[in-house]
Amino acid sequence: MIRISDITDRVQSYNPSSDIDIINRAYVFSAKVHKGQVRLSGEPYLNHPLEVSGILTEFKLDEVTVAVGLLHDTIEDTLATEEEIRDLFGEEVLFLVNGVTKISRISFSSHEEKQAENFRKMILAMAKDIRVILIKLGDRLHNMRTLKHLPKEKQIRIAQETMDIYAPFANRLGIARMKSELEDLALQYLEPEIYNELSQKISHRAKQHQKIIDEAIQTIQTKLKEYNIETVVKGRTKHFCSIYQKMKRKGVPPDQIFDIMGVRIITNNIRDCYAALGVMHSIWTPLPGEFDDYIAMPKPNMYQSLHTVVMGQVGHPLEIQIRTHEMHHTAEEGIAAHWRYKEKDKFDKKYDERFIWLRQLMEWQQNLKDPKEFLEMMKVDLFHDEVYVFTPKGTVKGFPQNATPIDFAYAIHSEIGHHCLGAKVNGRMVPLNYKLITSDIVEIITSTNHHPSRDWLKIVKTTKAIQRIKHWLKTEEKEHSKALGNEILKKELTKYGLTHSKTSKSGELLKVAKRFGFVEEEELIIDIGYGKITAKHVLGELLPQEKLQPRSEPSKLKKALNKLTRPKDQSIKIKGMNDVMAHFGKCCNPIPGDKIVGFITRGRGVSVHRNNCPNVNPLLYGTERLIEVTWDVKKNMPYHVEIDVLCIDKAGLLAKITAAISQGRVNIIHADIKTTQDMQATCRFCLEITNLKQLQKVIASIKTINDVTVVYRTSALAKNKIAK
Ligand code: MN
Repeated sequence: MIRISDITDRVQSYNPSSDIDIINRAYVFSAKVHKGQVRLSGEPYLNHPLEVSGILTEFKLDEVTVAVGLLHDTIEDTLATEEEIRDLFGEEVLFLVNGVTKISRISFSSHEEKQAENFRKMILAMAKDIRVILIKLGDRLHNMRTLKHLPKEKQIRIAQETMDIYAPFANRLGIARMKSELEDLALQYLEPEIYNELSQKISHRAKQHQKIIDEAIQTIQTKLKEYNIETVVKGRTKHFCSIYQKMKRKGVPPDQIFDIMGVRIITNNIRDCYAALGVMHSIWTPLPGEFDDYIAMPKPNMYQSLHTVVMGQVGHPLEIQIRTHEMHHTAEEGIAAHWRYKEKDKFDKKYDERFIWLRQLMEWQQNLKDPKEFLEMMKVDLFHDEVYVFTPKGTVKGFPQNATPIDFAYAIHSEIGHHCLGAKVNGRMVPLNYKLITSDIVEIITSTNHHPSRDWLKIVKTTKAIQRIKHWLKTEEKEHSKALGNEILKKELTKYGLTHSKTSKSGELLKVAKRFGFVEEEELIIDIGYGKITAKHVLGELLPQEKLQPRSEPSKLKKALNKLTRPKDQSIKIKGMNDVMAHFGKCCNPIPGDKIVGFITRGRGVSVHRNNCPNVNPLLYGTERLIEVTWDVKKNMPYHVEIDVLCIDKAGLLAKITAAISQGRVNIIHADIKTTQDMQATCRFCLEITNLKQLQKVIASIKTINDVTVVYRTSALAKNKIAK
């Protein structure tokens, strides 16, 4: 068992000027809060943080990281609070402890490689500081070393997670030693039979192998000395998991994995690497296709070495790796080796962060076919601009920052997106513009009656969602424009005693369509509905000039028919038309009783405005696209109307105003009161009003209150009713 003095000694040996006081204090605190706790092995709990901390010193990490190794379980498993940690050790330590705790809380359960990759990215996005990952790796390594004390079910889950998530992390970060140990430990629990077979075979032949390796080392050292190349030569055996993976990959039994035996030559400089390689190839025959130069072309994780396999002394293939001391260090300790304490004992955190991301990106880049995709990832990942969230089933999905539940819904399925009504995040209802946060669990609520809205385009972040929404809106608009175009044309035709079916059957309408450059009649009608072509213009093409005299009114029969076929809920009626998409303008918010006018929008049907609304000013927009509309109120539907009340800022006045409003049997939806320095107050009320008369009554009664100076209806309001 490691002691705290071993840990502080080690930290001091690799970084003499480090502040080991924080490590000692962390030890005392950890011992206090873990007191009385025991692990399943029966040993005191404190051993675990001590060992984790010890592992971190093997990677020569800074004193803060080593201290957090001692504290990493205090928030999760003891009564220690965040405040205590902040007070005793500061913000940085708290941040790291919280980082490790957060990662430990999420659990991974999927065997899909893509899911594992997303999960790893999620962990990186959560970590924000790579030291959190290193501490978590130390934690995991010690837990794996002591896994035998856990129940079998847990062993398998943790071993699988180690294989899928943590060993690849160690690999990506270039910590070969940890990767091998994690994988071998995991294999022991995941494939116990294979592990035992391998360990038996290897130990069975170990003696024989050792002899061969010893002889090879002897030969190599003598030869290299002759050439004046200064080296350290070490024998090595491959770790089990890599033998197993090679067996699976090549489909051969372990006996045939010929590079189980290997030696490593470590030189002082790169020139000696190649010189040593030349010597090796001159004394033994190299096997074809087994030479790799990772010095000239380093692996994405910065690994550098020369690899060759030769036919050794007694006809045994021998794998030889040749590298410099520096390369060896990088290979064994990976990123940690780069955290050599630079000037003033402080490592440049930002630089290292960049560095890691770049290295990962390089590795990812190899799997990406599209260079644009690579650039996107670089932008996104380098600046941590991604969030990773869970589906209720635990699948991880990645999104750009500020993505919303709508993006999530479309990522699941277009139909879910199209009918997305709301969302629950971590079990609570959130608005659709909620911004997803990494590790959220997101559940979408759908309704078959609910459809995409144009407003969604303002909040969604993913290309997929944008494309799907636009497509849906376009299809919808086209449908509506067609219906509207038909109605407008029909109305215009009727004025001149013509009918749609007749002009269509006779082919006249198609001729006109072609004159406008269309292939089909339908396209012409859609463009009429879009407001791009006026019906008058079409009539001008259909009829000679002298016949362009409108008949007075549509027949009485027609009117009766209209009434019968009119949709029930529609509260506005467009003169002479049925079933047309109409909505109220967002600008002026008309209520029954207001004088209104329709405006044929480009692609969004008819929008209805108060006739004094600046957005339908004929002086600005002409009358071509205006259309007569009338109220047709069947039942009292509430409309939202905003009024502003200016008054003296006096106690009790607000109560009087609200009383006046509710006496008129009007609901207040929202109130916003602002006071100014000159003792004035502006109150904005959003009211539920059924018609103009009611509104006028309310305004009049507010006006009678003393100290109220002005009351008026505002002209702009965001919320409005949309008639279907
Ligand atoms: Mn732990």
